[in-house]
Amino acid sequence: MTESINQQKKHPKGLWVLFGTEMWERFNFYGMRTLLTLFIVNALMISKEDSSIIYGGFLGLCYLTPMLGGFVSDRFLGNRNCILLGGTLMGIGQLLLFTSATVFSGNLELAKTILYVALGVIILGNGFFKPNISSMVGSLYPKSEKNKLDTAFTIFYMGINVGAFLGQLICPILGDVTDTSGIRDVFAFKWGFLAAAIAMLLGTLTFVFLKNKYVVTPDGKPIGGLPSGHSAEDYEEGEAQSTNFSGLSLGLAVAAFIVLGLIFNVVFGQNYIYSIIYASGITLAGLILSDKSLTKIERDRILVIYIVSFFLIFFWAAFEQAGSSLTFIADYQTDRNFFGWNMPPSMVQIFNGVFVVMFAVPFSMLWDKLRAKGKEPVSPAKQALGLLLIALSYFIIAHNVKDLGNSGLLAVHWLVLLYLIQTFAELCLSPIGLSLVGKLAPKRFASLLFGVFFLSSASGYALAGTLGSILPATGEQFKAASDAGIDLKAILDKTVVPTADQIKFLVDNKISNHYPTFAGFTIHNLFEFFMVFVVLCGIASALLFMLVPRLKKMMHGIQ
Ligand code: GLN
Repeated sequence: MTESINQQKKHPKGLWVLFGTEMWERFNFYGMRTLLTLFIVNALMISKEDSSIIYGGFLGLCYLTPMLGGFVSDRFLGNRNCILLGGTLMGIGQLLLFTSATVFSGNLELAKTILYVALGVIILGNGFFKPNISSMVGSLYPKSEKNKLDTAFTIFYMGINVGAFLGQLICPILGDVTDTSGIRDVFAFKWGFLAAAIAMLLGTLTFVFLKNKYVVTPDGKPIGGLPSGHSAEDYEEGEAQSTNFSGLSLGLAVAAFIVLGLIFNVVFGQNYIYSIIYASGITLAGLILSDKSLTKIERDRILVIYIVSFFLIFFWAAFEQAGSSLTFIADYQTDRNFFGWNMPPSMVQIFNGVFVVMFAVPFSMLWDKLRAKGKEPVSPAKQALGLLLIALSYFIIAHNVKDLGNSGLLAVHWLVLLYLIQTFAELCLSPIGLSLVGKLAPKRFASLLFGVFFLSSASGYALAGTLGSILPATGEQFKAASDAGIDLKAILDKTVVPTADQIKFLVDNKISNHYPTFAGFTIHNLFEFFMVFVVLCGIASALLFMLVPRLKKMMHGIQ
């Protein structure tokens, strides 16, 4: 009896191999990410504005290519080869960044060219790596053990965040170095990139050496080989073993992609990268549904993945404010005294990783307990709860910034609380979402559907960029204006018409002379800015909660 309970709780050793591989890979990714914009601005002398466009486009594309990686894996190469290819590419990309950060002082133009090549290689590498490692976690569990997937993905997610935390700690220590007078050592960035490259190498080696022994089925057969190499027992009766897109639907998909891209670009005024991301998401989703081998049940289950992915776009758009508007607020409008230590603004984000590491296991135990009592909510309900929690986190912040005016400072513990609640939200939603894809996706589409799932992150990042740009003037801008004798508030309220000189000053200092607007609403202050996220995520949560009974039916018995 005890034996069988242990057996039920135990996770295959392969999970720990994937945990280690992904941990080192995320060290490489997030470690590089903390240094990237600082390097671009301070060493490559590119403007802050251009650097955030490069950064946003880079991140968005990193989550667009998993669709490609998923396609190549499901049709041609299989998970294992794609992980090795992706890991190698990302390692090469980091070494190119290291090279760029080494040669920039002698040849700035060459260093910039190498930067773009490096980012392109990392984007491709991430595309091969990310969907495949995630879909392998799903494949470790035979059909009868799919109920362990939520917990498995929560453990895996902890690996992601241990890596992210270590990368965000170590790469800045090595690469973001200032001397005692506060002058930045621009020659140090390269060591941070080198550390990221080494981490990627360690991740790839972990996988190379341990995969054959541990990433196997209970009876020892390798998991994640070539797509044609699955044995018939891996499938349910009557389940097709390979994808079957007709030439016509592939052709239509290309046409639809071009038309949709143009619509997003021309009609909705989105930039090229954002247009490509949105258009690819819709096209890929349609393409998968056009596959002739799909049964009604498979189709329903895939639709559930789509619906949940759609709602998650709003979550990531709110969540990813961490790297932009929330960091600006941490920088300019926050008292960052943390138990007597004045923490650097870029470090405030690290609380997310710390809290994931602290709470991932308790969360997974909570699901286990609820499941034992038969009270575990279905996956879409957990996601709706995640959306509700993130709305709550912004509601608390909105109320705390309400009375700050233009010069008051937000105490840093409110941001720490925000990251705590957002981490709880993330844990209800992100690992559970991965697990949902793992459970619902027909095997022949697994990596491709993880690609669709990551496209919701890409779309969320694009939306985050758009929403981040409606951040109204913050304290330091009011101060800069008032130091120059300009009453910015009066200009924004249109009670005073600015002179030509004042306009020049505002333009030179990148201060807008009107309030930003969103969906026809004018955003006057930080309170209204944060309420945008409360409303968006609140509505998304309510709609998803309402859809839960329907989605439950469409999952056809999968919890
Ligand atoms: N932080 C998670 C990761 O790096 C989730 C990212 C995402 O899906 N947007 O895997």
